[in-house]
Amino acid sequence: MPDSTRKKIVLLGATGSIGSNTLRVLREHPDRLTLAGVSARSNYRALAEICTEFKVPHAVLTDPQAYQKAQAEKVFDGNTQLACGAEALSGLAGLPEADTVLIAVVGACGLQPTLAAIEAGKDIALANKEALVLGGAFVIERARAKGVRILPTDSEHNAIFQCLEGHSPAQVERIILTASGGPFRETPLTDFAKVRPADAVRHPNWSMGHKISVDSSTMANKGLELIEAHWLFGLPPEQLQVVIHPQSIAHSFVQFIDGSILAQMSPPSMTFPIQHCLLYPERAPSVEPTLNFQEAFQLEFSPPDPQRFPCLELAYQALRNGGGAPAVFNAANEIAVERFLKDELPYLAIPKLIDAALEQLATTAVPNIDALLALDSEARVLGREFKL
Ligand code: NAD
Ligand code: MG
Repeated sequence: MPDSTRKKIVLLGATGSIGSNTLRVLREHPDRLTLAGVSARSNYRALAEICTEFKVPHAVLTDPQAYQKAQAEKVFDGNTQLACGAEALSGLAGLPEADTVLIAVVGACGLQPTLAAIEAGKDIALANKEALVLGGAFVIERARAKGVRILPTDSEHNAIFQCLEGHSPAQVERIILTASGGPFRETPLTDFAKVRPADAVRHPNWSMGHKISVDSSTMANKGLELIEAHWLFGLPPEQLQVVIHPQSIAHSFVQFIDGSILAQMSPPSMTFPIQHCLLYPERAPSVEPTLNFQEAFQLEFSPPDPQRFPCLELAYQALRNGGGAPAVFNAANEIAVERFLKDELPYLAIPKLIDAALEQLATTAVPNIDALLALDSEARVLGREFKL
C-alpha cells in the first residue's frame, strides 16, 4: 500500500499501556495506518524494538540518561533518527509529515506537546487527561483558534463524542460518565486504612498503568475525567454526572432534553476507542472480539458513595472553583499517588493531601501557561511536604 494513502501517526508514550494497545491497532491495520514517530521516557530498549518492528523514522527519549545509553549501546537501527528531551518531544508532536498525534504520555508532561501539536495543526487523539485538567482553557482556546480537531481517546469521552455526533449542544441535558468503581467498590470502609499499593493497582476490568489504576481505585480518575469532559464538551459541573457501572461495558451516556439517552458500548479494552480515534471518521473491523449478545450478561448501575470516594467530590469542588483549582487537584493527586506507591503515605492520605492543597493554594485567576505551571509546581511542593 503506498504511504500516501495511509494515515501517519505520531505516538507519544509508545511504551505505556495506551501505547501498547495502539500498537495492536496499528498491527491490525497496516494498510490504513503507519507510525511516523514514537516517544518514551526511559525504556529505550522497548522503544527501539517498536522502531524496528514498525520502521519508525523518528523517535524521542525524554530521559537524557536513557538517550545516552541507547546511543552507547546502538540499540536503534540506522532507519530511526533519535532525539532527546522535552523540547524534542514537542518537536515530534509537530512533525510536519504527521496526520494524527496520539498523546499517550502520563501526567502533566502531556500539556506542552499537546499545545505543540495544536500549533502545528495536527488532528489530536488525546488519551492524556492531565493536559486538559491542567491547561484545559488554553488547550481548547488554541484548538478553536487553529481549527484543530481533538478526538477524545479516554474511553468515556470517546463514548460521549460518539453519542454527541449529529446533535446540537442545546439538545443535551446532561452527560453521565460511567465508572467501574475500581477494586474497592465493595471493600468495607474500615479496611481502607490497610490498602497497600499492590491492592490498589489491581483493577478488576482494565489493565492500565500504575498511576491511573490507583486513580481508578480512589475515583480521582473519574474526577479528572469530569474536568476533562467539562473542557471537551463545554458543560458546567451541574450537567455532569457519574454512575458506577462495574462491568465497564457502557462507556458513558448522553441524556438529551427529550429524555432519550444514548450510550456507546464495547468490551472493556482501549483498542476500541484508540482505533476509533486513529481511523476517524472511517471505521474498520476491531482488533478484539466484540460484545456477544448470544451469551447472557448483565449491566448494573448505581450512584457513587461520597464517603467511599471523597476524591470525586473534591474534583467537583475544583471544577466549581475554576481558575487554577483543577490544576491543583491534578498536581496534588499526582504527588499523593506517587508517595502512596512509594509507601511514604497511607492510602487514606490521598484525598487528605488533595483537600489540603485546594484549601491552601489561591487558585482563582490563572492568566497564562507560565502562571499555571508555577501553580502546578507550588502544589507539588506542598504535596511533597504534606504530613498527616
Ligand atoms: P503508562 O504509565 O503505562 O505509560 C506512560 C507512557 O508515557 C510511557 O510510554 C512512558 O515512557 C511515557 N512517559 C512517562 N513519563 C513521562 C515523562 N515525564 N515525559 C515523557 N514521557 C513520559 O500510562 P498509561 O496508562 O498508558 O496512560 C497514559 C495516559 O493515558 C494517561 O494520561 C492516562 O490517564 C491516560 N489514559 C489511560 C488509559 C489506560 O487504559 N491505560 C485509559 C484512559 C486514559
Ligand atoms: Mg477513562
